[in-house]
Amino acid sequence: MKAPAWLAGLREAAASLLFSAHCPVCASSVETPGSWCAPCLSRTVRPHRLTLSREALAAIDDAWAVGFYGGALGALIRDLKYRGRRAAIPYIRTALSAAELPKTLRCADLAVCVPLHETRRKERGFNQVELIFADWLKAQGIVVQRPLERRRATLPQYGLGEKERRRNMRGAFFLREAGEGGAGELAGKRILLLDDIMTTGETLLSCAAVLRQAGVASVQVLVLASDRS
Ligand SMILES: [Zn+2]
Repeated sequence: MKAPAWLAGLREAAASLLFSAHCPVCASSVETPGSWCAPCLSRTVRPHRLTLSREALAAIDDAWAVGFYGGALGALIRDLKYRGRRAAIPYIRTALSAAELPKTLRCADLAVCVPLHETRRKERGFNQVELIFADWLKAQGIVVQRPLERRRATLPQYGLGEKERRRNMRGAFFLREAGEGGAGELAGKRILLLDDIMTTGETLLSCAAVLRQAGVASVQVLVLASDRS
């Protein structure tokens, strides 16, 4: 039996409500899912170089963020990380692919994502950093390796003082044994080290220091969002 027209209309309205594409900031209609309207995208995607401390410069050659944490990118990251909303991923990927980033970042030999502690990764079900950058890395032809392991479940950095942050991060990262994407394959390589955000930079510095010990040629950092300048 054919469904009455009013029911088909209702279904169509519900479907368009569910599946129509909206800008993640102003909710105006956009052509494809995961897209932004042009003004919101250009306000959000603002690649900027991050100033590093002298200590950090010993291990990190250069650091960039795609945009600022205080804006839409921060909200999308929180949606993904703390609410498990994978619907944030297409928007994040669109923003990332719209960013004009320095060639040195795009020419890395290998990408390394800051790892989560295994317990936290299992709780969350994914490493958000890998999800955020997967498509962009594929487009640049950069291979991902997982040479780092996070052995201690660190306290969230938020709310800790500077000294406590350092104590919290120190010794949290180790190189995996050779043969598991480990130390031997890193020597002489230009590494792109990735994270979702940079606050004080302690996490990235700890990772970069461990990579340096493995003899890498350079460490460039790219994060999605940071309010540092
Ligand atoms: Zn918009």
